[in-house]
Amino acid sequence: MPTLYKSLATKLIHAGEPEPRINGAVSMPIFQSAMFEYAGETNYHDLKYIRLNNTPNHLAVHKKLAALENAEEALVAASGMAAISTALLTVLSAGDHLLAQNTLYGGTHDLLTADFAAFGLAYDFIDADNPASWKSKLRPNTKAIYVEAMTNPLLQVADLKSVPEFAKAHGLVSLIDNTFASPINFRPAEWGFDLSLHSCTKYLNGHSDLVAGAIIGRATLIEKIRHKLNHLGGALDPHACFLLHRGMKTLAVRLRQQNESALQIAQFLEGHPAIAKVNYPGLESHPRYQRARELFDGSSGMLSFEMKAGLQAAERFMKNTTLPIIAPSLGGIETLLTRPALTSHAGMSPPDRRRVGITDGLIRLSVGIEATADIIDDFEHALKSVAP
Ligand SMILES: *Cc1c(COP(=O)(O)O)cnc(C)c1O
Repeated sequence: MPTLYKSLATKLIHAGEPEPRINGAVSMPIFQSAMFEYAGETNYHDLKYIRLNNTPNHLAVHKKLAALENAEEALVAASGMAAISTALLTVLSAGDHLLAQNTLYGGTHDLLTADFAAFGLAYDFIDADNPASWKSKLRPNTKAIYVEAMTNPLLQVADLKSVPEFAKAHGLVSLIDNTFASPINFRPAEWGFDLSLHSCTKYLNGHSDLVAGAIIGRATLIEKIRHKLNHLGGALDPHACFLLHRGMKTLAVRLRQQNESALQIAQFLEGHPAIAKVNYPGLESHPRYQRARELFDGSSGMLSFEMKAGLQAAERFMKNTTLPIIAPSLGGIETLLTRPALTSHAGMSPPDRRRVGITDGLIRLSVGIEATADIIDDFEHALKSVAP
């Protein structure tokens, strides 16, 4: 079926849609029924029940997600963290060891550092930009390697090509959190990754009105993860499946706008005398610009930047903008600003933050779909109050 639709934009609209249409409905109806009549199923996991992640709303969104990343299967979960934790607890068992990128999303970092030990799981952080350093961290019980498409909030792009190669050479499962790139900009299965994880809360849904997660990848692994998810209970409700399904249909047009807008805003900021540094993989000044061009079809709507005049200037700038909303999270249609030292990385000690390059004055921007010129005008005005 997915081979019928070549481009992502077409798959977003047509892949996974029920055939024939249900009573002719053009839009996938919501099946808000906890259980379905017994139909001779012989396996527990095949009984039709919301927690077993197999209602018509689940099945349709699973097919669409798998088609988007040219992967075999997909599974939705109650949140990005439900997807990440359930995937990790499936590929790792007590006594196993994980290699993980040293700049993880805060929730994932905390899962490893605060919860892994109680499950009998061990981990080592790796510099994902330096594959030569990974082998020395391998242990006989190492089972998986975990990275992110682009890091938060510095938008670093690790040596993603080497991860599946290293995993294959050493019998590991390769996992990537693809939330920041979205399937529009990066499709991990095409590069040999076993599993791609998403917080659908962000770009996939794109409308800042639900929390959901997804796991996309090899069918054998997805089936095991589905059984684990059925036991752990992190199922996505059919109404949220419907909202995610609806939100995803505009992913291609949203991301096209966000990719283009973020690049223009990054270029504007980089050329402004009050700005010290802009982190965006689409800028030639980005240390991994060439790698990002090779891997990604666009650089996303995420960027971060620093003022020459530091923290006070950052605070003044944020106060003087009128268009962006000061709020955590990302990937929605509205432009958002945050200061990671106060939000996502507040739990880190100030010296640790400085060591990884997150200054107190660093501002993270999630570009929405407002007119680029309006965002730039607003920023230009707000920057007038910030002496370089
Ligand atoms: C938000 C986010 C998550 C967690 O997703 P939730 O839907 O909030 O559980 C995981 N990884 C990344 C990169 C994220 O941005």
